[in-house]
This record gives sequence, structure tokens and C-alpha cells, in this order.
Amino acid sequence: MSGLQRPSRFERSEDVVVMKFGGTSVEDAAAIRRLIGIVRSRADARPVVVVSALARVTDQLLEAGGAAAKGHLGSALATVRDIYVRHEQLADSLVGGSAHSTLDCELRGEFRALESLLHDLDSSRQLDLKAQDYLLGFGECFSSSLVKEALCEAGIQAAHVDARACIVTDARHGQANPVWDATELHVQQVLSPLLERGQVPVLGGFIASTCEGVPTTLGRGGSDFSAAIIAAALCAARVEIWTDVDGIMTTDPKLCSDARVIRKISFDEAAELAHFGAKVLHPATLVPAMRENIPVYVLNSRRPEGEGTEIVARAKTGDVVSGITAKRNVAAVEIQSAHTFDSELLRTVYAVFDRHSCSVDVMATSLGRMSLLVGSTAALPAITADLRGVAEVRWENHKALVCLVGENIRRQPDVASRVFAAVSDMDVRVVCHGASDRTISFLVEESKVEESVQRLHGIFFPQPDSARDWGGITSAFCQAG
Ligand code: ADP
Ligand code: ASP
Ligand code: MG
Repeated sequence: MSGLQRPSRFERSEDVVVMKFGGTSVEDAAAIRRLIGIVRSRADARPVVVVSALARVTDQLLEAGGAAAKGHLGSALATVRDIYVRHEQLADSLVGGSAHSTLDCELRGEFRALESLLHDLDSSRQLDLKAQDYLLGFGECFSSSLVKEALCEAGIQAAHVDARACIVTDARHGQANPVWDATELHVQQVLSPLLERGQVPVLGGFIASTCEGVPTTLGRGGSDFSAAIIAAALCAARVEIWTDVDGIMTTDPKLCSDARVIRKISFDEAAELAHFGAKVLHPATLVPAMRENIPVYVLNSRRPEGEGTEIVARAKTGDVVSGITAKRNVAAVEIQSAHTFDSELLRTVYAVFDRHSCSVDVMATSLGRMSLLVGSTAALPAITADLRGVAEVRWENHKALVCLVGENIRRQPDVASRVFAAVSDMDVRVVCHGASDRTISFLVEESKVEESVQRLHGIFFPQPDSARDWGGITSAFCQAG
């Protein structure tokens, strides 16, 4: 995102609100009707709507692509047929008259293109990241066409916009980065006239294209990022991330039912939570919002009256620990060399990881050793081969990174000791130090994630009604403290 600066030739559009609806917020007719109500409630502002693919569709597309590339074309086509039927059923229940025929025609055309892609994958027997970006983008194309027509049917003047004509990225397929100047120009050129005419632009999130027009994606969960990019380009007044939980919570409610909503949090802390696994926000979302100082709200589309979470430049949650996250599927990589890890060796190692699009999470170096965390082991055999003669690579997978986030958490004398005492009976081998003072994290066996998060949550966010006692640990701390 280098070069991302506040556009000088446009003033902040005080009334533009960019509203992003995630997969579960468009998953069925009831969800889309709720979306219509929420957009209508923003009629006084100038809404821009960004939608994800319908819940589960991106995974299904991935599965279909994988099957086609393995020669299981029949099963790939059947999966896509299910996706088609689901969209057609939604079109039937949400859109009528001539708009229905137009939408039907559009969806048919798109599905034919998708089927033709699956045939190509079947013939070529490979699904590289470039083809995968084209494939996965279909989900957001379908959902945005559908939502646009549903909004029009409800009397809201909506206009469908192909996000690939707005967001320009580099060619890092699978996880592309915006080319800011071109994006700002395109977003302004395409969206401003619509907004001036009082129309509601509807775009698919997640999808973009290179300046040559090759489709790219912003990484899984990237629709949040799309919304923030568009908001920054338009100097919007706010971004609203509509999802299936009441806001950013003290931990993933799927891991711990005691999780509670964080009402207000700073960009920095929210960005750390997202980076360390709070799936509710794509990790890059807050970068453009921060630069342009645009507040971001995380809201529940099933309970639109809720206050949600407000993310702003400066905010104190009032707690030492603001939130606890967990990142699963982490592998701990040890790189050993006969030589000290000087800058040359570091450069070589980084270049190899980069070449294999393997992003590295936390890093520590000592004399001839380097410890890294990676989110996928897929590229490690090839990386090992490339580093042969330079360094030896070993890794252990099925780990999870548990992270506690809080402003200055690392400077609070007793927090680390309380954390590690709480999990002292678990196999906690790597304690990670990120670059900021805002995080304390450690690696556990993946099977222990739930238990460790629940214990820590019980300690740092005790329930008011019951002094919980995780195997005597809480009371031991109370006595010690
Ligand atoms: P969407 O489809 O709306 O983008 P996601 O599934 O990407 O939604 O993100 C919402 C999910 O994020 C929630 O259902 C929740 O399980 C998960 N999540 C993880 N960590 C947190 C957290 N700290 N606060 C809220 N939700 C979280
Ligand atoms: N549909 C994409 C995904 O499932 C992008 C998103 O939902 O934000 O990853
Ligand atoms: Mg998401």
C-alpha cells in the first residue's frame, strides 16, 4: 500500500458510507431482505454497497476448481450447478418482471463462462493462482448482480459496478495489493457520477484486476479490504462491515461463549486482532481506513439496531487485554545455517519465501538459527529445495498461535506471567514477540486452542456473576496479585 495518501483533489465526502455485507449477510432471501432494510435506513447518506459471495460459495468454487483440475469434471460441474440453482431460486423470490429476465440472462451467461473455465481446467489439469483468482471471482459477480436487482426491485435506485474495473492491483495472484493511484482514479471515475445521480453503486468485494485487466483477488475474506479501499478512494465518512456477530468481540464467540462485544477500539489494536486471527476483519482492512482516518463500524446484519464496534484512531477499551485471538493451521519453521544470519542470508531466505508466495508471520533469529511461523506448509518442500546448500529447513505443523492484544500489554509487569502460568500445563514451546508492544503470543498444539483461549478469557474477562476457577489457576493469580 505504499504511496497511499489522502487524495488531494477530492474533499471528504461527508455523507458517503461504504457498507460491506459478508457471506452470511447475503446467504438467503431473508438475509438479502435484511440488507435492503439496512441500506434503506442509510438513505440520507450516499451508500455504496460491497457484497461478498453468498456464504459457502467461494469454498464450493475452490472445490469445483480442484476437482476439475484433477479430471473430476462431472463432480465440478455438479457443484457449480448447485450454486447456479441457489442463485436462480433467490432471483425467483426477490426479483420479478422484466428485471427477472435480465438477471436470469446475466446469471446464465456468467455460469456458462464458469463452466467453460472448468472445462479448461479439466483439459490443462492444473489450477494455478491466476486461474484460481478468475474462478473465485465468479462468486462475487453472481452475488453483486443479484443484490443490485433485489435493491432495484425494492425501489432503491441501484447500479451494478464491476469491481474489477475499479480496484487495480499488482499481479500477486491470491493476495494482490492495490495500486493506489490507479485505483483512486478508477473508483472516482466510475462511482462519483453514480453517487451524484443519487444511485447506489453495488460492487462485488474481494475481486480486482491488474492494470492489464487480468482478474485478481485480495485474499480470502478480502471484501472487507475492498470496502476500505473504496472508502479511502472516495474519502468516505465511514465504513460499515455488516456481519454475523455483534461487533469485534473479546475473542471469537465460536471459541468461547463468554466473549463480549468491544464497543470502541483503536485502529492499531483492531489491526493487531485482525492480523493475529480475528476473522471478523480482513487483516489489511484498516490500512486505508487509518491513512484516511475513516471510522470503521462492525455491525450485526441480523441485529441492525445493535451498536456494534466503532474503530477509530484513538480509543481505550479500559482493559489491560483488549482481545484474545487464535490462528490455526500454523507451522513453526526452523531454519539452520552453518553461518550467522547476517543481512545477506536473511535476504536470501526472504526472497525464497517470497518467490513461493509463502508469507511469514513472526520471526526470531539467533546465531545460526531463524524461527518463522507460516500459515501453510504447502510451499515448504519447494522452499527447502531452493535453500539447499544455504540452510537446512525443518518444520512442525498442527500448531496454533494464541495472541493477547492490548495497548502496552508487553509493558504491564504481570500480564505475561499470568498468561504463561495459565497454560503452564500445556506444551507451550515458542513464545513470540511481534514488533509492537501490543501483543503477547505463543504457540500451542492445535488441539489445545479452545481450552487455552477459554482459560485466558476467564482470567482477563471474568464473568461478573461467577468467579470462574480454571483448575485453581484464577484463584492462584488472585492470591498472588
Ligand atoms: P463475513 O462473512 O461477514 O465476512 P466472517 O466469517 O469473515 O464474516 O467473520 C465473522 C466471524 O468472525 C464470526 O462469525 C466469528 O466467528 C469470527 N471471529 C473471530 N474472531 C472474532 C472476534 N474477535 N470478534 C468477532 N468475531 C470473530
Ligand atoms: N468470498 C470471499 C471469501 O470467502 C471474500 C469474502 O467473503 O470477503 O473469502
Ligand atoms: Mg469476512
